Amino acid sequence: AKADGEYDVVVLGAGPGGYSAAFRAADLGLKVAMVERYATLGGVCLNVGCIPSKALLHTAAIIDEAAALADHGISFGKPTIDLDKLRAFKDGVIGKLTGGLAGMAKARKVTVIRGVGTFVDANTLSVKADDGEQTVKFANAIIAAGSQSVKLPFAPEDDRIVDSTGALLLKDVPKKMLIIGGGIIGLEMGTVYSTLGARLDVVEMMDGLMQGADRDLVKVWQKFNAHRFDNIMLKTKTVGIEAREDGVWVSFEGEGAPKEPQRYDLVLQAVGRSPNGKKIGADKAGVEVSDRGFIAVNSQMRTNVPNIFAIGDLVGQPMLAHKAVHEGHVAAEAAAGQKSHFDASVIPSVAYTDPEVAWVGMTEDEAKKQGLKITKGMFPWAASGRAIANGRDEGFTKLIFDEETHRIIGGGIVGTHAGDLISEVALAIEMGADMVDIGKTIHPHPTLGESVGLAAEVAEGSCTDLP
Ligand code: FAD
Repeated sequence: AKADGEYDVVVLGAGPGGYSAAFRAADLGLKVAMVERYATLGGVCLNVGCIPSKALLHTAAIIDEAAALADHGISFGKPTIDLDKLRAFKDGVIGKLTGGLAGMAKARKVTVIRGVGTFVDANTLSVKADDGEQTVKFANAIIAAGSQSVKLPFAPEDDRIVDSTGALLLKDVPKKMLIIGGGIIGLEMGTVYSTLGARLDVVEMMDGLMQGADRDLVKVWQKFNAHRFDNIMLKTKTVGIEAREDGVWVSFEGEGAPKEPQRYDLVLQAVGRSPNGKKIGADKAGVEVSDRGFIAVNSQMRTNVPNIFAIGDLVGQPMLAHKAVHEGHVAAEAAAGQKSHFDASVIPSVAYTDPEVAWVGMTEDEAKKQGLKITKGMFPWAASGRAIANGRDEGFTKLIFDEETHRIIGGGIVGTHAGDLISEVALAIEMGADMVDIGKTIHPHPTLGESVGLAAEVAEGSCTDLP
């Protein structure tokens, strides 16, 4: 048995990667400590990321859906919004989940150590807290210190200039909001604020919003959401931000740039996240960290130092919670001496906007760029009984198959619940399914999920359900 302060595994950071690794290691019989600087477990995802954003997006989607019911002859009138209650709902959701994690840690006898951890050497971590410093000895360490949002160097300190964490505080609803960065995080937050009453501008350096997704998927989202935006500035950079009493004035350069600086009540910086790899004294343990703060790992999530693993946002893209969780399991199993490897063929991406945009594996754009020969199966939701009955038939389901083998290599879905639907496509890819496997799988009727089977039938040429 190990003495106090001595562990088989010490996990640095209690986000999705960290807690998954700690729990798996404990389940495998190892003595585990998890070091976390914040009072609650759960990391970015549970406290200031995935979960609070989804709580607010859920509320926003219901407000929008209720308004749309006017077309069905049901009117509720303008909603009255009590921001204090909405914030309390969101905080309650976070509390349930982070409290649940604390219970799970306790049940597994994972020791939670509060404080900022930094390496002393390849077997020692020092943890500093307000009430003192302690030394923790470990046989194996799993670094899961995550990432933080990138701040524009010229952005002044001001309450009206926020990152996603600030936006999630939902202090008030601005009349006019600028989103800097047209990626998933910015567009999700924009959806919430716009439904609550804000008018939006968005500025993006690339030539389209929601990079990474096929343009045909994004087009459907953009058409449905055009009403939220006053100005979508593409191929445009923010070059100056000035906080004045009458508002935050922002100047732009590029193809979509207005000539004069524009005035905003709230500016959201959503220009990406940078890994925390450089802030943990990794060099003291001999762990190599790149200039940008990423830590390189092998398929067992081992760094260049064999008893030190790294997982989650700080080992690279995509910075997603479900990737961190799976990497955490691999690292814990490897630390326990198992022959586990991270071997995911695909990692799904979802924008939880309205409609949702989800994709996994090879996109059509990528396939074209790589000159791959593909067969595409497209099923428009305008032919889906369920989507029509829901009053939301703007979406479609698209599957991408290898032209020769007929095996599925990717897929994209735009429409309500696309994020839930994409899992079937991910499973099909992991299982090496072909178009017949998917098309002949009986899907329940009438569901949105049927569109996956039907898209496969379209690719195969046996679909009889299209008008
Ligand atoms: P993190 O969650 O970043 O956790 C790292 C933890 O380590 C933190 O708790 C931190 O306090 C702690 N820590 C760091 N350094 C130290 C130290 N030296 N000592 C002690 N503790 C330390 N992903 C999705 O998959 N789906 C989504 O819908 C989604 N929505 C998002 C929405 C927003 C607004 C944001 C910002 C992110 C979202 N993400 C989403 C991304 C997701 O949150 C991250 O991919 C995920 O949290 C990464 O997990 P992690 O374990 O690598 O690190």
